[in-house]
Amino acid sequence: MWSGVTSRHKEQYRAAVEAMNKNIRSICHFDCDAIPARPTTHPLSEIPILVKDNISVSGLPLTCGSPILANYKAVYNATVVERLLDAGLHVVGKTNLDEFGMGASTTHSIHGKTKNPWDLSRSAGGSSGGSAASVASGMAPLALGSDTGGSVRQPASFCGVYGLKPTYGALSRFGLVAFASSLDCIGVLGESLEYIEQIFSLSKGMDPRDASSVDISNARDSSSSPSTEKKSLSARIAVLSFDRGILSESTHRVYRKGCDMLLAQGYEIETVDFPLIENAIAAYYIIATAEASSNLARYDGIRYGKRKGQADTYLEYLFDTRSQAFGNEVVFRTLLGTYVLRSGFYDQYYGKALAVRRDLVSAFRRLFASYDAVFLPVYPIEAFSVEDSLDEVAIKYGDIFNVLANLGGLPALSFPMGEDERLPVGMQFVGPAHSESKLFSLVQSMRPEEKIMRPSGYTSLGMMGSE
Ligand code: GLN
Repeated sequence: MWSGVTSRHKEQYRAAVEAMNKNIRSICHFDCDAIPARPTTHPLSEIPILVKDNISVSGLPLTCGSPILANYKAVYNATVVERLLDAGLHVVGKTNLDEFGMGASTTHSIHGKTKNPWDLSRSAGGSSGGSAASVASGMAPLALGSDTGGSVRQPASFCGVYGLKPTYGALSRFGLVAFASSLDCIGVLGESLEYIEQIFSLSKGMDPRDASSVDISNARDSSSSPSTEKKSLSARIAVLSFDRGILSESTHRVYRKGCDMLLAQGYEIETVDFPLIENAIAAYYIIATAEASSNLARYDGIRYGKRKGQADTYLEYLFDTRSQAFGNEVVFRTLLGTYVLRSGFYDQYYGKALAVRRDLVSAFRRLFASYDAVFLPVYPIEAFSVEDSLDEVAIKYGDIFNVLANLGGLPALSFPMGEDERLPVGMQFVGPAHSESKLFSLVQSMRPEEKIMRPSGYTSLGMMGSE
C-alpha cells in the first residue's frame, strides 16, 4: 500500500522518478510541489496520481503531445481531477500520450517515445502509454488516462496493469480535450483493483458541465462496496471461438487459460459469434475521424494553439498554423474525417458507420439479455517494437476488440493475465452499461492476489514512505 509523499520523502521520491523517467519517458511534466494535496481524512489522502496530458489540471501544462499546444497551460481542473483533489489525492505530474490520443503506441508525441518498462525496446502501448508505463514501473500507484477506442486498456495490457474504461457518461468529460466526443471516456489505470474502484467511485456521476454525464446515484451503492467483500458470484460469460484467428500464439494461450479459469470458477461460458466485429473497426475509424476533424477545427492559431507564419488573412493563418503544428497522424485523421463527411457523400461512409454502430448496440443488448459479461482479449499481440512498430494499418486493426465497448458506450475492465511470460498479456471483461461493480467482482475472482507483477529491476516507490 502506498503512503503519501511526505516532505520527508519528497526529495527521494523526486530523484527516483526522475532517474526512471530518463529511460522510460512516461512522464512529460513532473512536479510534486505544484499542487499540494488538500488535507482530508480519505484513505487515499496524499496518494500520488498522474494525469494523462489531455486532461486539464489547473496551472499545469496541457500539451496533448502536440506541437500546437506545446506552450499551453490549463486554466481550470477537469471535473474528475477536481473530485480527486477534493478527496486529497496528490497530482504529481502529467503523462505522455499519442498526439490528441490518436494512436496505440505513445510514439507520436512532442515528448518523445515512451518505452515499456518490461522491455525498453518495446512500446508501452497507447495512447495512455505514459500512464501505463508509470504505474507499471512503480512511479505512482494510479494514473488517469482516456479511452476513445482502447487507449486505457491496450497500454494497461502491454504494461501489465489494470485499466478501467467506464460506461460512457459515468465520468464527466469536462476538462478532457475532445478527440471523438461520442466515444471519449476518462479512464483509470492502477496497480490494484481496489485503487481503481476507489477512484471510480470518487469521481463518477452527474456533472452539470457535461451534458452527456449520467446520474448514477442509484448505482453508487453497489459500485462503492469493495469487490473483495463479494464471496461467490454466478455469471454467464460469452467468449470468442477458440480458433486462434488473429491472436498471436501467446495471446491465444493466455486467452484459453482465461476461459479455463472461468470454468474453474464455476461460471457458465459459451462461445458466441460477434457478427459485427469486422465492421466495428471500420465504423470506429470513420466515426472517430469524423468527430476529430470537427473537434480539432478550434486549433486555428488564433483562438487556440501556437500561431505560425506571417500571414495577413485568417485563412492564411489557418493554413500555415495547421500544416506546421499538427503531427502526421493528426493531419491524416483530420483529412480522413473531412473526407468521410464531405458534402453529398454522407451516406457513403458516415451514415453507414452510424448504422453499424446502431446494429452493434442492439446486438450487445440482445447478448446481455443472456450473458452477464463478455470475455475478450485486449489486443491481438503483445507489445510491439517501439522503434520499428507495426505498420499503421495493422496497429489500427489491432483495436478490433477494444472499440466494441466504445461504440456501445459500455464499461470494460482489463487486467493482467499472463505476467509469467516475458511480456505481459491482458484480458478484459465488457459488460452492460453501469455494470462496473460486476466487472470488478469478475476480475477479482480471476485475480485474487490483486497485486501486479513488476518488471525485474522495478519496485513500487510507495515503499519509500512505509518505514
Ligand atoms: N488506438 C485507437 C486510435 O488510435 C484508440 C485511441 C484512443 O482510445 N484514444 O484511435
